[in-house]
Amino acid sequence: MAKDFVKSITSMEDDFAQWYTDVVTKAELIDYSSVRGSMIIRPYGTAIWENIKEALDKRIKETGHENVYMPLFIPESLLQREKDHIEGFAPEVAWVTHGGDEELAERLCVRPTSEVLFAEHYKNIIHSYRDLPKLYNQWANVVRWEKTTRPFLRTLEFLWQEGHTCHETEEDADRETIQMLQVYAEICEKYLALPVIKGRKTEKEKFAGAKYTYTIESLMHDGKALQSGTSHNLGDGFAKSFGIQFSDRDGNLQHVQQTSWGFTTRIIGAMIMVHGDDRGLVVPPMIAPTQVMIVPIAQHKEGVLDFAYDLQKKLSSTIRIGIDASDKKPGWKFNEYEMKGIPLRLEVGPKDMEKNQVVLVRRDTGEKQFVSMEGLEETIAQLLIEIQDNLLKKATDHREENTHTALNFDEFKQWTVKEKPGFIKAMWCEDQACEDKIKEETSATSRCMPFEQESIAETCVCCGKKASKLVYWAKAY
Ligand code: AMP
Ligand code: ZN
Repeated sequence: MAKDFVKSITSMEDDFAQWYTDVVTKAELIDYSSVRGSMIIRPYGTAIWENIKEALDKRIKETGHENVYMPLFIPESLLQREKDHIEGFAPEVAWVTHGGDEELAERLCVRPTSEVLFAEHYKNIIHSYRDLPKLYNQWANVVRWEKTTRPFLRTLEFLWQEGHTCHETEEDADRETIQMLQVYAEICEKYLALPVIKGRKTEKEKFAGAKYTYTIESLMHDGKALQSGTSHNLGDGFAKSFGIQFSDRDGNLQHVQQTSWGFTTRIIGAMIMVHGDDRGLVVPPMIAPTQVMIVPIAQHKEGVLDFAYDLQKKLSSTIRIGIDASDKKPGWKFNEYEMKGIPLRLEVGPKDMEKNQVVLVRRDTGEKQFVSMEGLEETIAQLLIEIQDNLLKKATDHREENTHTALNFDEFKQWTVKEKPGFIKAMWCEDQACEDKIKEETSATSRCMPFEQESIAETCVCCGKKASKLVYWAKAY
Protein backbone atom coordinates (compact mmCIF):
# COMPACT_ATOMS: atom_id res chain seq x y z
CA MET A 1 0.00 0.00 0.00
CA ALA A 2 2.63 2.48 1.08
CA LYS A 3 4.12 2.15 -2.37
CA ASP A 4 1.16 4.03 -3.84
CA PHE A 5 2.23 7.16 -2.04
CA VAL A 6 5.72 6.95 -3.32
CA LYS A 7 6.77 8.22 -6.75
CA SER A 8 8.32 5.50 -8.85
CA ILE A 9 10.50 5.85 -11.91
CA THR A 10 11.45 3.65 -14.84
CA SER A 11 14.67 1.70 -14.34
CA MET A 12 17.60 3.17 -16.29
CA GLU A 13 18.55 -0.24 -17.69
CA ASP A 14 15.01 -0.81 -19.02
CA ASP A 15 14.60 2.49 -20.80
CA PHE A 16 17.22 5.19 -20.28
CA ALA A 17 15.29 7.91 -22.14
CA GLN A 18 12.16 7.29 -20.09
CA TRP A 19 14.23 7.16 -16.90
CA TYR A 20 15.61 10.62 -17.78
CA THR A 21 12.16 12.04 -18.42
CA ASP A 22 10.88 10.56 -15.14
CA VAL A 23 13.78 12.04 -13.18
CA VAL A 24 13.55 15.58 -14.56
CA THR A 25 9.84 15.76 -13.84
CA LYS A 26 9.55 13.77 -10.61
CA ALA A 27 12.56 15.43 -9.00
CA GLU A 28 10.67 18.65 -9.83
CA LEU A 29 13.43 20.18 -11.91
CA ILE A 30 11.15 21.09 -14.78
CA ASP A 31 7.64 21.05 -16.12
CA TYR A 32 6.70 20.94 -19.78
CA SER A 33 5.11 24.02 -21.29
CA SER A 34 2.83 24.45 -24.26
CA VAL A 35 5.77 25.72 -26.32
CA ARG A 36 7.41 22.79 -28.11
CA GLY A 37 10.90 22.03 -26.87
CA SER A 38 10.79 24.67 -24.16
CA MET A 39 10.71 23.91 -20.48
CA ILE A 40 9.65 25.56 -17.29
CA ILE A 41 12.62 25.42 -14.95
CA ARG A 42 11.03 24.93 -11.53
CA PRO A 43 12.49 26.31 -8.27
CA TYR A 44 14.66 23.23 -7.63
CA GLY A 45 16.10 23.28 -11.16
CA THR A 46 16.60 27.03 -10.94
CA ALA A 47 18.40 26.73 -7.60
CA ILE A 48 20.84 24.20 -9.08
CA TRP A 49 21.45 26.45 -12.12
CA GLU A 50 22.01 29.44 -9.81
CA ASN A 51 24.69 27.53 -7.90
CA ILE A 52 26.47 26.58 -11.13
CA LYS A 53 26.10 30.12 -12.39
CA GLU A 54 27.51 31.58 -9.19
CA ALA A 55 30.63 29.38 -9.34
CA LEU A 56 31.21 30.09 -13.03
CA ASP A 57 30.47 33.82 -12.76
CA LYS A 58 33.06 34.07 -9.99
CA ARG A 59 35.73 32.47 -12.21
CA ILE A 60 34.71 34.63 -15.19
CA LYS A 61 35.23 37.74 -13.08
CA GLU A 62 38.44 36.46 -11.50
CA THR A 63 39.85 36.02 -15.01
CA GLY A 64 39.21 39.70 -15.72
CA HIS A 65 35.87 39.70 -17.55
CA GLU A 66 33.01 42.15 -17.13
CA ASN A 67 29.32 41.34 -17.47
CA VAL A 68 27.20 43.21 -19.99
CA TYR A 69 23.75 42.80 -21.51
CA MET A 70 22.93 42.81 -25.22
CA PRO A 71 19.54 43.09 -26.96
CA LEU A 72 17.41 39.99 -27.57
CA PHE A 73 16.80 40.78 -31.25
CA ILE A 74 19.21 40.88 -34.17
CA PRO A 75 18.26 42.69 -37.41
CA GLU A 76 18.53 40.37 -40.41
CA SER A 77 21.11 42.56 -42.16
CA LEU A 78 23.37 42.40 -39.12
CA LEU A 79 23.19 38.61 -38.92
CA GLN A 80 24.02 38.39 -42.65
CA ARG A 81 27.28 40.27 -42.21
CA GLU A 82 29.51 37.24 -41.51
CA LYS A 83 28.98 34.67 -44.26
CA ASP A 84 29.94 31.40 -42.49
CA HIS A 85 28.12 32.42 -39.35
CA ILE A 86 24.78 33.03 -41.05
CA GLU A 87 25.14 29.87 -43.12
CA GLY A 88 25.59 27.82 -39.96
CA PHE A 89 22.82 29.43 -37.98
CA ALA A 90 20.19 30.20 -40.64
CA PRO A 91 18.31 26.88 -40.27
CA GLU A 92 18.04 27.38 -36.50
CA VAL A 93 16.84 30.95 -36.06
CA ALA A 94 13.42 32.19 -35.08
CA TRP A 95 12.19 35.33 -36.83
CA VAL A 96 10.04 38.19 -35.63
CA THR A 97 8.15 39.63 -38.59
CA HIS A 98 5.48 41.80 -36.95
CA GLY A 99 5.24 44.43 -34.23
CA GLY A 100 1.60 44.33 -33.22
CA ASP A 101 -0.29 44.22 -36.51
CA GLU A 102 2.36 45.96 -38.52
CA GLU A 103 4.82 44.10 -40.64
CA LEU A 104 8.39 45.12 -39.85
CA ALA A 105 10.49 46.78 -42.55
CA GLU A 106 13.26 44.35 -41.59
CA ARG A 107 12.87 40.98 -39.91
CA LEU A 108 14.48 40.53 -36.51
CA CYS A 109 15.89 37.23 -35.39
CA VAL A 110 15.80 36.11 -31.79
CA ARG A 111 19.46 35.74 -30.85
CA PRO A 112 20.79 32.17 -31.27
CA THR A 113 24.14 33.57 -30.03
CA SER A 114 25.37 37.16 -29.99
CA GLU A 115 28.63 37.42 -31.95
CA VAL A 116 27.23 39.97 -34.39
CA LEU A 117 25.75 42.17 -31.67
CA PHE A 118 29.07 42.24 -29.85
CA ALA A 119 30.93 42.86 -33.12
CA GLU A 120 28.76 45.88 -33.94
CA HIS A 121 29.34 47.27 -30.46
CA TYR A 122 33.08 46.58 -30.49
CA LYS A 123 33.43 48.50 -33.73
CA ASN A 124 32.10 51.54 -31.90
CA ILE A 125 34.17 51.31 -28.76
CA ILE A 126 37.55 49.92 -29.88
CA HIS A 127 39.98 52.32 -31.56
CA SER A 128 43.42 51.84 -30.07
CA TYR A 129 45.54 49.05 -28.59
CA ARG A 130 44.84 50.87 -25.31
CA ASP A 131 41.20 49.70 -25.60
CA LEU A 132 42.34 46.08 -25.65
CA PRO A 133 41.78 43.48 -24.48
CA LYS A 134 37.99 43.81 -24.19
CA LEU A 135 36.76 40.99 -22.02
CA TYR A 136 32.96 40.83 -21.95
CA ASN A 137 30.48 38.21 -20.86
CA GLN A 138 26.71 38.08 -20.80
CA TRP A 139 24.23 35.84 -18.98
CA ALA A 140 21.19 35.44 -21.19
CA ASN A 141 18.66 33.22 -22.89
CA VAL A 142 19.04 32.26 -26.55
CA VAL A 143 16.78 30.50 -29.03
CA ARG A 144 17.73 27.81 -31.55
CA TRP A 145 14.97 26.12 -33.53
CA GLU A 146 16.09 22.56 -32.77
CA LYS A 147 14.32 19.69 -34.52
CA THR A 148 14.50 17.19 -31.69
CA THR A 149 14.56 18.43 -28.17
CA ARG A 150 15.01 17.05 -24.69
CA PRO A 151 14.86 18.88 -21.34
CA PHE A 152 18.17 20.60 -20.51
CA LEU A 153 20.18 18.69 -23.14
CA ARG A 154 18.69 20.35 -26.18
CA THR A 155 15.95 22.91 -25.77
CA LEU A 156 14.56 25.54 -28.12
CA GLU A 157 15.30 28.24 -25.60
CA PHE A 158 18.16 27.81 -23.16
CA LEU A 159 20.02 29.78 -20.54
CA TRP A 160 23.74 30.31 -20.85
CA GLN A 161 26.62 32.66 -20.54
CA GLU A 162 28.44 33.76 -23.66
CA GLY A 163 31.86 35.34 -23.40
CA HIS A 164 33.03 37.61 -26.22
CA THR A 165 36.51 39.04 -26.21
CA CYS A 166 38.81 41.13 -28.42
CA HIS A 167 42.61 40.97 -28.39
CA GLU A 168 45.64 42.55 -30.01
CA THR A 169 47.31 39.36 -31.19
CA GLU A 170 46.52 35.83 -32.31
CA GLU A 171 48.52 34.49 -29.36
CA ASP A 172 46.44 36.50 -26.89
CA ALA A 173 43.22 35.17 -28.44
CA ASP A 174 44.50 31.61 -28.34
CA ARG A 175 45.52 31.96 -24.69
CA GLU A 176 42.03 33.26 -23.87
CA THR A 177 40.32 30.43 -25.76
CA ILE A 178 42.32 27.84 -23.82
CA GLN A 179 41.94 29.65 -20.51
CA MET A 180 38.13 29.66 -20.72
CA LEU A 181 38.01 26.01 -21.75
CA GLN A 182 40.08 25.28 -18.64
CA VAL A 183 37.62 27.26 -16.54
CA TYR A 184 34.76 25.16 -17.93
CA ALA A 185 36.66 21.95 -17.23
CA GLU A 186 37.35 23.11 -13.69
CA ILE A 187 33.67 23.95 -13.06
CA CYS A 188 32.68 20.53 -14.40
CA GLU A 189 35.20 18.60 -12.34
CA LYS A 190 35.23 20.58 -9.12
CA TYR A 191 31.56 21.52 -8.83
CA LEU A 192 29.61 19.05 -10.96
CA ALA A 193 31.96 16.07 -10.41
CA LEU A 194 31.99 15.57 -14.18
CA PRO A 195 35.27 14.43 -15.72
CA VAL A 196 35.78 15.88 -19.21
CA ILE A 197 37.99 15.29 -22.22
CA LYS A 198 39.49 18.54 -23.50
CA GLY A 199 40.28 18.90 -27.15
CA ARG A 200 39.79 20.58 -30.46
CA LYS A 201 36.82 20.08 -32.81
CA THR A 202 37.43 18.99 -36.38
CA GLU A 203 36.78 21.51 -39.19
CA LYS A 204 33.41 19.85 -39.81
CA GLU A 205 32.28 20.21 -36.21
CA LYS A 206 33.66 23.67 -35.43
CA PHE A 207 31.48 26.71 -34.70
CA ALA A 208 30.11 28.54 -37.73
CA GLY A 209 32.44 31.49 -38.32
CA ALA A 210 35.28 30.30 -36.05
CA LYS A 211 38.92 29.73 -36.89
CA TYR A 212 38.79 26.76 -34.55
CA THR A 213 36.75 25.42 -31.63
CA TYR A 214 37.90 23.84 -28.38
CA THR A 215 35.47 21.61 -26.53
CA ILE A 216 34.96 19.61 -23.37
CA GLU A 217 33.24 16.27 -23.87
CA SER A 218 31.74 14.05 -21.20
CA LEU A 219 30.38 10.51 -21.23
CA MET A 220 26.87 9.77 -20.00
CA HIS A 221 25.78 6.66 -18.07
CA ASP A 222 24.36 5.07 -21.23
CA GLY A 223 27.68 5.35 -23.08
CA LYS A 224 26.74 8.35 -25.21
CA ALA A 225 28.82 11.52 -25.26
CA LEU A 226 27.74 15.08 -24.59
CA GLN A 227 29.44 18.26 -25.78
CA SER A 228 29.52 20.11 -22.50
CA GLY A 229 30.99 23.50 -23.36
CA THR A 230 32.82 25.16 -26.21
CA SER A 231 35.40 27.91 -26.61
CA HIS A 232 36.05 29.41 -30.03
CA ASN A 233 38.96 31.31 -31.49
CA LEU A 234 37.21 33.53 -34.03
CA GLY A 235 40.44 34.90 -35.50
CA ASP A 236 39.79 38.16 -37.35
CA GLY A 237 36.82 36.92 -39.41
CA PHE A 238 34.15 38.93 -37.61
CA ALA A 239 36.55 41.85 -37.20
CA LYS A 240 36.98 42.01 -40.98
CA SER A 241 33.26 41.68 -41.71
CA PHE A 242 32.41 44.37 -39.17
CA GLY A 243 35.49 46.59 -39.52
CA ILE A 244 36.68 46.28 -35.91
CA GLN A 245 40.08 47.94 -36.16
CA PHE A 246 42.56 49.45 -33.76
CA SER A 247 45.78 51.37 -34.16
CA ASP A 248 48.51 49.15 -32.81
CA ARG A 249 51.60 50.08 -30.80
CA ASP A 250 53.38 51.19 -34.01
CA GLY A 251 50.46 53.31 -35.17
CA ASN A 252 49.30 50.82 -37.84
CA LEU A 253 45.64 49.89 -38.28
CA GLN A 254 44.91 46.25 -37.48
CA HIS A 255 41.89 44.01 -37.07
CA VAL A 256 41.24 42.66 -33.58
CA GLN A 257 41.46 38.94 -32.79
CA GLN A 258 38.32 37.59 -31.14
CA THR A 259 37.06 34.69 -29.06
CA SER A 260 33.67 33.50 -27.86
CA TRP A 261 32.70 30.75 -25.42
CA GLY A 262 29.46 29.36 -24.03
CA PHE A 263 28.21 27.14 -21.21
CA THR A 264 24.53 26.30 -20.87
CA THR A 265 21.73 24.70 -18.86
CA ARG A 266 22.64 21.55 -20.83
CA ILE A 267 25.17 20.81 -18.10
CA ILE A 268 22.32 19.99 -15.71
CA GLY A 269 21.36 17.23 -18.15
CA ALA A 270 24.93 15.93 -17.94
CA MET A 271 24.80 15.94 -14.15
CA ILE A 272 21.57 13.92 -14.25
CA MET A 273 22.81 11.42 -16.82
CA VAL A 274 26.20 10.87 -15.21
CA HIS A 275 25.33 10.65 -11.51
CA GLY A 276 21.66 9.63 -11.43
CA ASP A 277 20.46 6.13 -10.56
CA ASP A 278 17.25 4.12 -10.26
CA ARG A 279 16.23 6.04 -7.17
CA GLY A 280 16.47 9.33 -9.05
CA LEU A 281 18.75 12.32 -9.11
CA VAL A 282 22.14 12.51 -7.41
CA VAL A 283 23.28 16.11 -6.94
CA PRO A 284 26.96 16.75 -6.12
CA PRO A 285 27.27 18.53 -2.73
CA MET A 286 29.15 21.52 -4.20
CA ILE A 287 26.09 22.60 -6.18
CA ALA A 288 23.28 21.00 -4.17
CA PRO A 289 20.73 23.65 -3.08
CA THR A 290 20.14 21.48 -0.01
CA GLN A 291 23.15 19.45 1.08
CA VAL A 292 21.55 17.85 4.12
CA MET A 293 17.86 17.19 4.73
CA ILE A 294 16.70 16.57 8.28
CA VAL A 295 13.89 14.04 8.62
CA PRO A 296 12.58 13.94 12.20
CA ILE A 297 11.45 10.47 13.35
CA ALA A 298 8.40 10.15 15.64
CA GLN A 299 8.18 13.90 15.47
CA HIS A 300 4.98 14.01 17.54
CA LYS A 301 7.02 12.86 20.57
CA GLU A 302 8.03 15.59 22.93
CA GLY A 303 11.18 17.50 22.13
CA VAL A 304 11.91 15.91 18.74
CA LEU A 305 10.94 18.85 16.55
CA ASP A 306 12.56 21.40 18.84
CA PHE A 307 15.74 19.36 18.76
CA ALA A 308 15.62 19.08 14.96
CA TYR A 309 15.02 22.80 14.45
CA ASP A 310 17.82 23.66 16.87
CA LEU A 311 20.14 21.40 14.96
CA GLN A 312 19.18 23.00 11.65
CA LYS A 313 19.79 26.44 13.08
CA LYS A 314 23.15 25.47 14.48
CA LEU A 315 24.39 23.90 11.25
CA SER A 316 22.92 26.36 8.77
CA SER A 317 25.79 28.83 8.99
CA THR A 318 28.15 26.38 7.27
CA ILE A 319 25.89 23.85 5.55
CA ARG A 320 22.87 24.24 3.24
CA ILE A 321 20.47 22.29 5.43
CA GLY A 322 16.71 21.79 5.23
CA ILE A 323 14.13 20.14 7.43
CA ASP A 324 10.91 18.38 6.50
CA ALA A 325 8.58 18.60 9.47
CA SER A 326 5.45 18.00 7.41
CA ASP A 327 3.01 15.30 8.52
CA LYS A 328 4.05 12.93 5.72
CA LYS A 329 5.46 9.55 6.73
CA PRO A 330 9.26 9.29 7.13
CA GLY A 331 9.28 6.60 4.40
CA TRP A 332 7.71 9.05 1.94
CA LYS A 333 10.26 11.69 2.88
CA PHE A 334 13.21 9.30 2.47
CA ASN A 335 12.01 8.44 -1.00
CA GLU A 336 11.34 12.06 -1.93
CA TYR A 337 14.78 13.36 -0.97
CA GLU A 338 16.49 10.41 -2.60
CA MET A 339 14.55 11.27 -5.76
CA LYS A 340 15.78 14.85 -5.44
CA GLY A 341 19.35 13.65 -5.00
CA ILE A 342 20.05 15.44 -1.72
CA PRO A 343 23.56 14.29 -0.73
CA LEU A 344 22.87 13.49 2.94
CA ARG A 345 19.79 12.61 4.97
CA LEU A 346 19.89 13.27 8.68
CA GLU A 347 17.41 11.32 10.81
CA VAL A 348 16.80 12.13 14.42
CA GLY A 349 14.25 10.60 16.82
CA PRO A 350 13.71 10.12 20.56
CA LYS A 351 16.14 7.17 20.77
CA ASP A 352 18.89 9.11 19.02
CA MET A 353 18.35 12.08 21.29
CA GLU A 354 18.80 9.83 24.31
CA LYS A 355 22.08 8.55 22.91
CA ASN A 356 23.24 12.03 21.86
CA GLN A 357 23.51 10.94 18.24
CA VAL A 358 21.91 11.28 14.82
CA VAL A 359 21.67 8.98 11.80
CA LEU A 360 23.30 10.04 8.52
CA VAL A 361 22.50 8.34 5.21
CA ARG A 362 24.57 8.98 2.09
CA ARG A 363 22.68 9.38 -1.18
CA ASP A 364 25.59 8.18 -3.33
CA THR A 365 26.22 4.86 -1.54
CA GLY A 366 23.11 4.41 0.62
CA GLU A 367 25.47 3.90 3.57
CA LYS A 368 23.93 4.56 6.96
CA GLN A 369 25.89 5.61 10.02
CA PHE A 370 25.22 6.63 13.60
CA VAL A 371 27.11 9.78 14.38
CA SER A 372 27.71 11.44 17.72
CA MET A 373 26.47 14.98 18.23
CA GLU A 374 30.03 15.84 19.27
CA GLY A 375 31.78 17.29 16.26
CA LEU A 376 28.74 16.68 14.04
CA GLU A 377 29.42 19.75 11.95
CA GLU A 378 32.92 18.53 11.04
CA THR A 379 31.66 15.00 10.37
CA ILE A 380 29.07 16.31 7.94
CA ALA A 381 31.53 18.65 6.21
CA GLN A 382 33.94 15.72 5.81
CA LEU A 383 31.21 13.45 4.46
CA LEU A 384 30.13 16.03 1.88
CA ILE A 385 33.70 16.18 0.62
CA GLU A 386 33.84 12.37 0.46
CA ILE A 387 30.58 12.24 -1.49
CA GLN A 388 31.81 14.87 -3.94
CA ASP A 389 35.09 12.97 -4.45
CA ASN A 390 33.32 9.64 -4.79
CA LEU A 391 31.01 10.98 -7.51
CA LEU A 392 33.94 12.25 -9.55
CA LYS A 393 35.80 8.98 -9.06
CA LYS A 394 32.80 6.86 -10.04
CA ALA A 395 32.21 8.96 -13.14
CA THR A 396 35.89 8.79 -14.07
CA ASP A 397 35.99 5.01 -13.59
CA HIS A 398 32.84 4.66 -15.70
CA ARG A 399 34.39 6.71 -18.47
CA GLU A 400 37.63 4.70 -18.37
CA GLU A 401 35.71 1.42 -18.48
CA ASN A 402 33.80 2.69 -21.47
CA THR A 403 36.67 4.16 -23.45
CA HIS A 404 37.91 1.79 -26.15
CA THR A 405 40.47 1.85 -28.91
CA ALA A 406 39.93 0.76 -32.48
CA LEU A 407 42.74 0.07 -34.92
CA ASN A 408 40.57 -0.63 -37.96
CA PHE A 409 37.02 -0.05 -39.16
CA ASP A 410 35.78 -3.51 -38.15
CA GLU A 411 36.91 -2.99 -34.58
CA PHE A 412 35.39 0.49 -34.68
CA LYS A 413 32.01 -0.83 -35.81
CA GLN A 414 32.01 -3.53 -33.14
CA TRP A 415 32.13 -0.91 -30.40
CA THR A 416 29.44 1.26 -31.94
CA VAL A 417 26.87 -1.54 -32.03
CA LYS A 418 27.29 -2.30 -28.32
CA GLU A 419 24.46 -1.31 -26.03
CA LYS A 420 26.85 1.09 -24.26
CA PRO A 421 29.08 2.31 -27.09
CA GLY A 422 31.28 4.68 -25.06
CA PHE A 423 34.20 6.69 -26.38
CA ILE A 424 36.23 5.16 -29.17
CA LYS A 425 39.81 6.35 -29.57
CA ALA A 426 41.00 5.92 -33.13
CA MET A 427 43.46 7.48 -35.55
CA TRP A 428 42.28 9.70 -38.40
CA CYS A 429 43.83 11.02 -41.61
CA GLU A 430 42.12 14.45 -41.27
CA ASP A 431 40.12 13.90 -44.46
CA GLN A 432 36.48 14.89 -43.97
CA ALA A 433 35.38 12.09 -46.29
CA CYS A 434 36.42 9.58 -43.59
CA GLU A 435 34.63 11.54 -40.89
CA ASP A 436 31.48 11.58 -43.04
CA LYS A 437 31.72 7.88 -43.80
CA ILE A 438 32.15 6.97 -40.13
CA LYS A 439 29.11 9.02 -39.23
CA GLU A 440 27.02 7.55 -42.00
CA GLU A 441 27.90 3.94 -41.30
CA THR A 442 28.04 3.96 -37.50
CA SER A 443 26.27 7.18 -36.44
CA ALA A 444 29.30 7.93 -34.26
CA THR A 445 30.70 11.45 -34.70
CA SER A 446 34.09 12.93 -34.00
CA ARG A 447 33.90 14.45 -30.54
CA CYS A 448 37.36 16.01 -30.39
CA MET A 449 41.05 15.71 -31.12
CA PRO A 450 42.23 15.55 -27.49
CA PHE A 451 44.94 17.93 -26.34
CA GLU A 452 46.78 14.86 -25.08
CA GLN A 453 47.64 13.33 -28.43
CA GLU A 454 49.21 9.88 -28.70
CA SER A 455 49.79 7.64 -31.67
CA ILE A 456 47.94 4.34 -31.27
CA ALA A 457 48.36 3.34 -34.93
CA GLU A 458 50.04 4.52 -38.12
CA THR A 459 46.93 4.43 -40.26
CA CYS A 460 43.48 6.01 -40.42
CA VAL A 461 40.78 3.82 -38.84
CA CYS A 462 38.56 4.41 -41.86
CA CYS A 463 40.62 4.58 -45.09
CA GLY A 464 43.88 2.95 -43.99
CA LYS A 465 45.97 5.86 -45.28
CA LYS A 466 48.54 7.58 -43.11
CA ALA A 467 46.94 9.02 -39.98
CA SER A 468 47.93 12.24 -38.26
CA LYS A 469 45.44 12.72 -35.41
CA LEU A 470 44.05 10.76 -32.51
CA VAL A 471 40.31 11.41 -32.26
CA TYR A 472 37.68 10.58 -29.66
CA TRP A 473 34.56 9.33 -31.45
CA ALA A 474 31.17 8.55 -29.93
CA LYS A 475 27.48 8.42 -30.45
CA ALA A 476 26.39 11.70 -28.94
CA TYR A 477 23.40 13.59 -27.65
P1 AMP B 1 27.80 27.05 -29.50
O1 AMP B 1 27.52 28.50 -29.34
O2 AMP B 1 27.10 26.46 -30.67
O3 AMP B 1 29.24 26.67 -29.43
O4 AMP B 1 27.11 26.34 -28.23
C1 AMP B 1 27.65 26.50 -26.96
C2 AMP B 1 27.26 25.33 -26.09
O5 AMP B 1 25.86 25.33 -25.94
C3 AMP B 1 27.53 23.97 -26.71
O6 AMP B 1 28.81 23.53 -26.37
C4 AMP B 1 26.50 23.08 -26.09
O7 AMP B 1 27.02 22.50 -24.92
C5 AMP B 1 25.38 24.02 -25.72
N1 AMP B 1 24.18 23.91 -26.56
C6 AMP B 1 24.08 23.95 -27.91
N2 AMP B 1 22.80 23.83 -28.31
C7 AMP B 1 22.05 23.71 -27.19
C8 AMP B 1 20.64 23.55 -26.94
N3 AMP B 1 19.74 23.51 -27.93
N4 AMP B 1 20.23 23.44 -25.66
C9 AMP B 1 21.12 23.50 -24.64
N5 AMP B 1 22.44 23.66 -24.82
C10 AMP B 1 22.92 23.76 -26.07
ZN1 ZN C 1 41.00 8.40 -43.56
